[in-house]
Amino acid sequence: MSCLFCQIVNGTIPSKAVYQDDQCYAFADITPQAPVHVLVVPREHIASLTDAEKSHHDLLGHLLGVAAEIARTHALSKGYRVVINSGPDGGQSVDHLHVHLLGGRKLTWPPG
Ligand code: 5GP
Ligand code: ZN
Repeated sequence: MSCLFCQIVNGTIPSKAVYQDDQCYAFADITPQAPVHVLVVPREHIASLTDAEKSHHDLLGHLLGVAAEIARTHALSKGYRVVINSGPDGGQSVDHLHVHLLGGRKLTWPPG
């Protein structure tokens, strides 16, 4: 499997684990854009949000719930941002669905 995040999920490529369960794995982004920058990825390879099917809807909700729980454990009580980039125009660079959790500084809007 050549997918970068599949290799991170199965431990072939090392990462700094933040949270894991039977459905997902969360780890620190290698190029953090905020003091807290965590990626939450499904263990199953789904290329993008566009490729998620109806059968994945519970999993998608789980990924968001996990992001919120990580925000709580990282004391992001002043707020944070959850982002899913999808496709080339959405800025997706790794073709394995992932949720960005960004926090620990005041984030600007709109994004670039
Ligand atoms: P995207 O641009 O696809 O929404 O987000 C991909 C993210 O993966 C980027 O924020 C990038 O810094 C992160 N990333 C890319 N390669 C690696 C890696 O090898 N390890 C980790 N921990 N993060 C990575
Ligand atoms: Zn993958």
